[in-house]
Amino acid sequence: MYRYYMNSFQEKYKRLIIVAYRLPFTIRKTEEGVSLQQNSGGLVSAILSMAEQMGQSGEGRKINWVGHCDPAFQDLTGDAFENETFEAHPVFMDPEVHQGFYEGFCNDMLWPLLHYFPTYASFRDSYFEHYEQANTRFFEELVGLVQPGDLVWIHDFQLMLLPAMLRKAVPDATIGYFFHVPFPTNEIFKLLPRTWRQALLEGLLGADVVGFHTPDYSQHFIRSVWEVLSLPVIGSRVILPERSVVVRDFPISVDFNKFDGSARTPEVVETKTQYRNLLRVDKIIFSVDRLDYAKGIKERLQGYERFLTQNPDWNDRVSFVMTVVPSRDQVPQYQEIKREIEETVGRINGLFGTIGWRPIVYSYLSLKFQEMMALYTTCDVALITPIRDGMNLVAKEFIASRYDEKGVLILSELAGAAQELKEALIINPTDTQEVANAIYQALHMSPEEQTVRMRPMRVHLQNHNVFRWAVDFLNAVDEAVSHQPDIETSLPLPSFSAAFKSAENPLLLLDFDGTLAPIVDDPAEARLSESMATLIRQLTETSDVAVISGRDRRFLEQTFATIPVHIVAEHGAFYKAPDADWKRLDLSTEDWVAPVRALLDQFIGRHRGTFMEEKETAIAWHYRKSGEEDIEMRAMELAMQLRNLPSLIPLTVIQGSKVVEVKPALHSKGTVARSLFEQKRYDFVVSIGDDTTDEDMFRQLPDWAYSVRIGAGESEARYRLARQQEVLPLLELMLEARKEEAVKDQ
Ligand code: UDP
Repeated sequence: MYRYYMNSFQEKYKRLIIVAYRLPFTIRKTEEGVSLQQNSGGLVSAILSMAEQMGQSGEGRKINWVGHCDPAFQDLTGDAFENETFEAHPVFMDPEVHQGFYEGFCNDMLWPLLHYFPTYASFRDSYFEHYEQANTRFFEELVGLVQPGDLVWIHDFQLMLLPAMLRKAVPDATIGYFFHVPFPTNEIFKLLPRTWRQALLEGLLGADVVGFHTPDYSQHFIRSVWEVLSLPVIGSRVILPERSVVVRDFPISVDFNKFDGSARTPEVVETKTQYRNLLRVDKIIFSVDRLDYAKGIKERLQGYERFLTQNPDWNDRVSFVMTVVPSRDQVPQYQEIKREIEETVGRINGLFGTIGWRPIVYSYLSLKFQEMMALYTTCDVALITPIRDGMNLVAKEFIASRYDEKGVLILSELAGAAQELKEALIINPTDTQEVANAIYQALHMSPEEQTVRMRPMRVHLQNHNVFRWAVDFLNAVDEAVSHQPDIETSLPLPSFSAAFKSAENPLLLLDFDGTLAPIVDDPAEARLSESMATLIRQLTETSDVAVISGRDRRFLEQTFATIPVHIVAEHGAFYKAPDADWKRLDLSTEDWVAPVRALLDQFIGRHRGTFMEEKETAIAWHYRKSGEEDIEMRAMELAMQLRNLPSLIPLTVIQGSKVVEVKPALHSKGTVARSLFEQKRYDFVVSIGDDTTDEDMFRQLPDWAYSVRIGAGESEARYRLARQQEVLPLLELMLEARKEEAVKDQ
């Protein structure tokens, strides 16, 4: 199956370019020159296997890989960085920049923040500067390489700015981005300085697809985009002015067959027997993690201690083989947790151990693949309890290795893997009693129950292996690029146009600025395009169409002089039916105007480029042309002062797009929409608008009406349309549906 996808991928794309912080191999200087030792991490093995499936391991079709390289190798020539599968493009950078970027911004700031350890995060200006410089170095290498027809796949939190850099230089590039660690809730992400969080999110949105391990991480990202950048989001797509970005989960996985197969080899079986003979206990619990505060190692030990205290009959009969893999142990925080772990291990072993029995067999080293396989397959319980982990591959490797369908997985609910491995004993890692109970349950679990739990997890991983991860991701990128929808909307278009097509009495309620016409700097310059005018005229032949606007009567009457629409001016103050005279719906007196005018005069005096528009029943302050940076804040201040102004009648203050408007509260777009709707027995109603005043209209309509909000912002509309430019194709689609019906009726 994967081969099929790979072949079609190969036909479409010239080259796959991977960009990741690390190169796919470790380079060593030797007497003959250099040696390249292939790395074996998840990403490299996924890509290697894809290369095999694609038959790319030949001249001319190598996988290009851009990654950081030690400047010690700077004098090597290009082909020194090639092996039979990869053509590597090393990124060299100044050691000081590298230090601030990698040790600083990435490991001392982003890593703890993304793993919910904000108190460990250092926010230094120089870190961010170095992060930008380092991303720029990657960009310089990448942009010289990218050609039309390439697919660029960028990886992980070290390169969050890179997608936007590439997009700016090569607007039609095909770019995928995958985030390998958790994306935290907005409350954590908000701790980042404003300019940083904005730059990081905008950076990622340079991609066509942004992938995460779990639906939660995708949702967190979307929430941050919504809050920080105020961009509209429709389903899983973030809407930008010219294109949209797909945000989705793609859970990374393991090479199932490799683990399943290796577990059965004679070498692994022999090592396994050796371990059993050495430990001489009834049951073995196992864990392996990199040294990291996010792995919950200390809490795990406390859970195990509680289990031993509460279950003395297990003393002598169980050993916990706990391996910690050295990592970042030059960093003080890591040294500190290492010290704490080792103290706790010593204390527990001292408290419970005997001459012939060690409760914890602890080592601080890297395991060889064969050793790890032996431990995965010989243990009775895998105890995997991170406090936060993007995915946790160890859990999946354990399951993939258990061809005997035995063994119990105890898994933290805070690891990404818990969202897939549902038959594990899922625990909260900080709840030591829960951990102790789970250990008890696991040690007493019958072989039958072990199989009942293990089997579906193995089937899941067989189907959702690492190749599927890579193929799904690349397919999603291809899909996103080749199928940008003509109309980006959450409206269910087929049933929507079918409902319109068969309606006997349809009503269309349409806002003007930002809906029928694009927003322009000078409101006087806003025009209805020829095509939009023609379209509306045609729609009026079979439907009632009302334009409901904040504009004054004169403007609207001129604009729609030759189109038989209902017109509502000044947010519901005036109404004109086709071929009839204007009716004033606002019956309030003018007494409220003078104090409002005086306050607006003050603001106009203080803020250049802003001006007042006096309508018959409303006054507006326009600040679209002001160049002041904090003008939005000033607009909020004005709105607040206006709301507190003593007035003889209740007033509504509307904060629109670059405008603050005041009007009597008794009429609104909503009151008029409602009275229009009640004029006839309408059986289809659609209302479309882009601004806060349109919310009144959405609120007043019945539940079954199609209310559609254009662009970003909180809304009570049931549906959303991405951009103003999409109103025309949406109305065209509706007109087409009506025409089909008319032809059928003839
Ligand atoms: N691993 C390894 N050597 C060891 C211990 C673990 O290569 O001594 C591997 C393990 O097989 C797994 C990876 O390291 O593939 C750890 O991945 P995981 O997602 O569990 O944690 P991470 O270290 O990426 O946070």
